[in-house]
Amino acid sequence: MNYHTFEQIRFAMMTFIHIAQLIRFDQDRMEISVDAAVRCDGERIVWVGRTHELPPADSDQTVDCRDLVCLPGLIDSHTHSVFAGSREHEFELKLQGAGYAEIAARGGGILNTMTSTRHSSKEHLLQIAIRHARAALAFGITTLEIKSGYGLSVDDEIKMLEVIRDLPAHVPIETIATFLGAHAVPPEYKDRREAYVALVCEEMIPRVAAEKLASFCDVFCETNVFTPDETRQIFAAAKKHQLKLKLHADQLTNTGGAELCAEMGAVSADHLENISDRGIEALARSGVVAGLLPGCSFYLNMQYPPARRLITAGIPIALATDFNPGSCPTQNLPLIMTIACTQMKMTPAEVLRAVTVNAAKSVSRGDIGNIAPGMQADLAFFDVPSYTTIPYRFGQNHCTMVVKRGKIAHRSPIA
Ligand SMILES: [Zn+2]
Repeated sequence: MNYHTFEQIRFAMMTFIHIAQLIRFDQDRMEISVDAAVRCDGERIVWVGRTHELPPADSDQTVDCRDLVCLPGLIDSHTHSVFAGSREHEFELKLQGAGYAEIAARGGGILNTMTSTRHSSKEHLLQIAIRHARAALAFGITTLEIKSGYGLSVDDEIKMLEVIRDLPAHVPIETIATFLGAHAVPPEYKDRREAYVALVCEEMIPRVAAEKLASFCDVFCETNVFTPDETRQIFAAAKKHQLKLKLHADQLTNTGGAELCAEMGAVSADHLENISDRGIEALARSGVVAGLLPGCSFYLNMQYPPARRLITAGIPIALATDFNPGSCPTQNLPLIMTIACTQMKMTPAEVLRAVTVNAAKSVSRGDIGNIAPGMQADLAFFDVPSYTTIPYRFGQNHCTMVVKRGKIAHRSPIA
């Protein structure tokens, strides 16, 4: 069944009844309702409670969800889902001992994907992105943050952002676009990096903002990539053009990225494998969301971010795949939840919060990531006896039905 089939079936009101466990979030606790019901009117949730208390309604479509666990539609809040080409060759090199930085220095890594992406037409990239978005939806993901950053020229960055903008016309998923022109210095600017930073600030950002192609601006602030000073300069330009800020911070080395996020008022500081104590204090004071990407640590066999210390400091944690062709080629967000449990000692309740409510915070959205009247009707149903089974029975896709804006957007063949 494809999206267009669903498009033709327009239900004004849909009610999901007899949900075995419905998971929603209060300020600081997770609420589990049994034999629950959710009613959606158009794109919004209008009623949540126990099935036997459901008020009667006319011309209602009801879906029996016996034996299913219902979560808010998952939000993958940090991805690089638009790219061409593949990097299996680098995977083999890494297995033979080559490091991430070493592969980048040999023209691999981001610049390898940049070349394939520059050589791809917008239509070709869109077809790839559609496949990726369908795969994300099947895992229960209803909102996908996607970054540019494999174009690294004005036209190629715009091309990527247009693909991100156009994607929801082809797959029932919502995209949140982040401009990441400062992902790497492209080869033609190798010896004049100031000129590339100026291009990002003076040409790319104003055009992206004027064409409303992105909500956020991100920078890869890292040793041998962009310095904290260059990041400040790019962030200042982004703020001037009303783009909100995200940062690839303190991933491979500590460059004070977390502190910079607090100083500049970023919405999220992502990665943080090498965050310092001062960085943790700065985030805790400022309310910046920590976007953790443990799939990267797993895949690169590197250290994990200190999730428990961040939680103890009161910092909200979002978890995301970081889906990209180099350091984390998976879209399986539930698998990332398992890695967060086993490697960072997060609890199942904490990881659920990290891919829903907190992920919504990390993309500045208050209307998604939870199940309550007034919220957008984005729901993910899992064929498991309990929410804990989702990270516990790892590596498998338990998602059987996805609702996006009040309409069934995906059903797995077994459902
Ligand atoms: Zn990333």
